[in-house]
Amino acid sequence: MNTYDINTTILSNEEVAEDHYLLRCECYEIAKRAQPGQFAHVLITNGAGLLLRRPFTIYTVDDSHITMLYQIIGEGTQRLSEMPIGASVQVLGPLGNTFDIDCNPNPAILVGGGAGIASLMLLAASLRTQGTETLGLVGAQHRKRLLSVDDLETIGVTVHIATDDGSIGQHGFVTDLLTDLLSNNDLNRPIVYACGPHGMLTAVSKITSEFEVPTQVAMENRMGCAMGVCLGCVCPVRIGDNRIEYQRVCTEGPVFNATEIAWEI
Ligand SMILES: Cc1cc2nc3c(=O)[nH]c(=O)nc-3n(C[C@H](O)[C@H](O)[C@H](O)COP(=O)(O)OP(=O)(O)OC[C@H]3O[C@@H](n4cnc5c(N)ncnc54)[C@H](O)[C@@H]3O)c2cc1C
Repeated sequence: MNTYDINTTILSNEEVAEDHYLLRCECYEIAKRAQPGQFAHVLITNGAGLLLRRPFTIYTVDDSHITMLYQIIGEGTQRLSEMPIGASVQVLGPLGNTFDIDCNPNPAILVGGGAGIASLMLLAASLRTQGTETLGLVGAQHRKRLLSVDDLETIGVTVHIATDDGSIGQHGFVTDLLTDLLSNNDLNRPIVYACGPHGMLTAVSKITSEFEVPTQVAMENRMGCAMGVCLGCVCPVRIGDNRIEYQRVCTEGPVFNATEIAWEI
């Protein structure tokens, strides 16, 4: 897979929910090749001192543009959110492996916690394009932080919402929605795709292993080079006879089968 390092300008960078922004820029080569789950490594040129790029999943693509939906977490994303239209950014991508959708999910269940839903949007679009029934379970802390519901519904995803404080949707965690759905037992051959905080993914993995539902997770470990060199993003993966091997989220991931990850480490 070819990767491109593109110097481009910001076409829009809007706050779409509390502390969450949608960045759009022209990246023809990346837009043409990006697959569900893949990410871009963005050099934030707003001020000095940010040597490391920051990784963001590619949220949507069209002929020549990509968008990335990001949450303000620390200095890098704060500075990115302050960059105006016309400012230049350096975007490296597409990077990483992809979600597998050739396994004919029926239905596909997307579980997104907070900004984790951003990593599932391109996947949702591909699933809907191939005619797969797709359910989106979207979790947020509260109503003002709810993301992507309109975008998902526009492409035909059936969305269920949970918020920690009950300000919209079901009161509780998005994993409660997942348990309720899988308990219903009238699903044909469900496959779960999930992204979100580590604790949420651990819970998703536990639930889906109890229900024996295949599950792919996109991991969002802290990342350095994104080229497989620095080993900053490794996560523990079970191989063969229950031995643990550390694999790189940037090159072997970010998508893993949930059963492979050693969640307890
Ligand atoms: C493959 C991949 C795809 C990603 N896609 C998205 C996306 O689409 N949208 C989005 O909002 N975020 C995404 N992230 C997370 C995003 O990269 C980080 O939130 C961002 O790099 C934080 O940068 P910062 O400079 O603002 O924070 P920093 O100043 O670097 O960190 C501030 C605080 O946040 C913690 N932190 C930093 N990075 C992470 C992380 N990855 N996970 C958990 N805690 C972290 C640090 O420990 C620190 O406490 C992705 C991460 C990966 C690895």
